[in-house]
Amino acid sequence: MAGSLRHSAYLLAAAVLLSTAHGQLTGENARKGSTYSIGVGKADITGPAADVNLMGYAAPGQLAAGIHTRLYARAYVIGDAQEERKRFVFVNLDACMASQGVTLTELYGDLYTEKNVALSGIHTHSGPGGYLQYILYIITSLGFVRESFDVLVAGIVQAIKRAHEDVKPGMLQVTAGELLDANANRSPTAYLANPPEERARYKHNTDKSMTLLKVLDTEERGRGAVTWFPVHCTSINNTNSLISGDNKGVAAQFLEGWAAGAGQADANGNDTMGSNFVGAFGQANVGDTSPNVLGAFCYDTGEPCEKEHSTCNGRNEMCIGRGPAWEADDYGYKSNEIIARRQSDEAIELWQSAATPISGDIDYRHAFLDMSAITVYPSNYTRAGRTCRAAMGFSFAAGTTDGPGAFDFKQGDTEGTIFWRVVSHFLKDPSTEQIACQAPKPILLDTGSVHVPYEWQPTIVEIQILRVGQLVILCVPGELTTMAGRRLREAVHQQVEGVWGSDVTVVLAGLTNTYSSYVTTFEEYAMQRYEGASTIFGPHTLDAYIQEFLRLSKAMMENKATEPGPRPPNMISKQWSFLTPVVLDSVPSGSHFGAVTEDVLPVVYKEGDKVRAVFQSACPRNNVRLEGTFLTVERQDPEDSDKWELVYTDSDVSTKYHWARPHVLSPESTATITWDIPEGTLSGTYRLRHFGDFKHILGGPAPFNGTSGNFEVHGLDVKPHKHHKHDDNRHKFELSDWERYVREHSFLIPVFLFALLLLGTVLYRQTVSRRPAVSSHPYERLEVAA
Ligand SMILES: [Zn+2]
Repeated sequence: MAGSLRHSAYLLAAAVLLSTAHGQLTGENARKGSTYSIGVGKADITGPAADVNLMGYAAPGQLAAGIHTRLYARAYVIGDAQEERKRFVFVNLDACMASQGVTLTELYGDLYTEKNVALSGIHTHSGPGGYLQYILYIITSLGFVRESFDVLVAGIVQAIKRAHEDVKPGMLQVTAGELLDANANRSPTAYLANPPEERARYKHNTDKSMTLLKVLDTEERGRGAVTWFPVHCTSINNTNSLISGDNKGVAAQFLEGWAAGAGQADANGNDTMGSNFVGAFGQANVGDTSPNVLGAFCYDTGEPCEKEHSTCNGRNEMCIGRGPAWEADDYGYKSNEIIARRQSDEAIELWQSAATPISGDIDYRHAFLDMSAITVYPSNYTRAGRTCRAAMGFSFAAGTTDGPGAFDFKQGDTEGTIFWRVVSHFLKDPSTEQIACQAPKPILLDTGSVHVPYEWQPTIVEIQILRVGQLVILCVPGELTTMAGRRLREAVHQQVEGVWGSDVTVVLAGLTNTYSSYVTTFEEYAMQRYEGASTIFGPHTLDAYIQEFLRLSKAMMENKATEPGPRPPNMISKQWSFLTPVVLDSVPSGSHFGAVTEDVLPVVYKEGDKVRAVFQSACPRNNVRLEGTFLTVERQDPEDSDKWELVYTDSDVSTKYHWARPHVLSPESTATITWDIPEGTLSGTYRLRHFGDFKHILGGPAPFNGTSGNFEVHGLDVKPHKHHKHDDNRHKFELSDWERYVREHSFLIPVFLFALLLLGTVLYRQTVSRRPAVSSHPYERLEVAA
């Protein structure tokens, strides 16, 4: 047996050499695929769980106040078995999107750089924001949030390091399947603007195909998986305040739980999964997709919304998409679990079905593009035109049916309210040239023309292609709509299939490396719904991307190098931040940090019950407890009452950590820990614990913990003594009048501060430029004169 294994390994190695040399497959190689150098790694990226605006809905009052699930970076190093330098890294982030401010330097020399590392966001709308470098994307988070950024960067580096240290020989397989009930189109009227003959080629108005990459060891045991499937991570709605990975983050937990669980043995009783399986759910052409699969309805009447503009009685705020369990009215948690489960079930099914072994070369191309001025030439895939400086259209302010805008705006609106007209005029009136370039978009914010205090939206974005054998990953810097993604994938597929084979799989990794809002087709752009209004570089944006991706893939086919392109600015050091630090924490006299203020009930709990305890707490920003937890659910050892086994942490779907303070200025706070007892929970004695760190006015943070009373859980095998009906504890998390006032009006603070700063900058410039040069330093004089 060992002999034949060695023999086949020898054959494989020989086949790899052959395939590298000729790009062709031979016998054994075609059956089993090539051997690659593969490493997987995962690290915690959960940022501040209090006070920070959650990124995605642009709802200024939506601040973090606890944790539903932790967020992770999952890294996959995929490289040539012989040549170490021939490798790339795909990092999937439980973040709304990747940030251009994150740049990799000196990670294992120059083994990992922007060229061969892709950072891709899953698009959760429940993660702490403030880590992007462009103003428009951080207005609602009161500017830049260093605490969010640092955690994200450290987690990315940690995940890549772990993957690097994990590198060993392995194999890859790819497969795809249909998942019908996990996404819906939220802008179907815009989709209908695409040519009928093009639409006729597709059965659905969103992509229903999930692609799964299987990462195996040389014995074909599972080491990890990456899936790509387009669906907005907006299952949890914009009234939620807990950090969560939304449907893709939770799907990853489900898949990893399945892989780690018992019963993954094959027919012969051998383990089919190695330990530390890392499973990621990547984003794709997400632009017009929604997890709210039942459609959009009016909140007050329950009638379907008006279709063209997604309004109810002319107002957009009332038109809200419904997830599969919308009736639960629970911030979307139940719907989220269902959409997550559908994705993880599909991934598991794909994992267990036949897949194509991957064999062939590893390659990558990366380019920075100045998207403000790309000339697009006509071709089979592109129409002639040019891109424009960035600008947002009016419908951007309307938001979507996943999270309607806070101001009275309609999708497709061309007039707008006084508020936004004032804001846009305050920035700058768009030039006639810009108006013509962006037409038919009515410009609300001419972001590409404003450079004070620094850039509002990107001008330079990056595109990237990663290739391993038959799998080609197109890394796009934004949210392509369904049809936009299809056009891009098809163009690349048709170009490369002649050389790389017709079984080439082209996937699209959305929200990667840079965030630059949306990309619609030319026809959808004309409709100017939310996605069209947010296609910032004008009607030819998609055609420009298609042209540039084709340029990179052509170079890859011909083994030619490509120009790196103009470097984007790194403005991290220039960032303004208005998030105040934690000053101190305190407790009521006679109490202490970790004290239980409301204990668990003295009843016997069963599956499906909610256990709850409240603790005296402190601000979680004092220590984000990376790779740790703010809570545990523990089970007593039946043999030894002093021993407690850890069952769940704050990252599990069944636990929630709600942090709250009586009012915004109070140094006192509480932590409410809840546990929804899942099916299959073992009977026994349990307890809840809370961990935190408090800040003394004169010193740094100090840790504390608290423990609830013990409680009994009876599993299904044991009849409970009495059934206790718990009331829904949601009212406990309701906001005080103060908090509600601040949440509803706090958007005025950043708007006011930015206004003040902009005004200040303009005044300062006016004064400086009018003042005669007094400096004796020649360069300073030169600068003033310029
Ligand atoms: Zn989005």
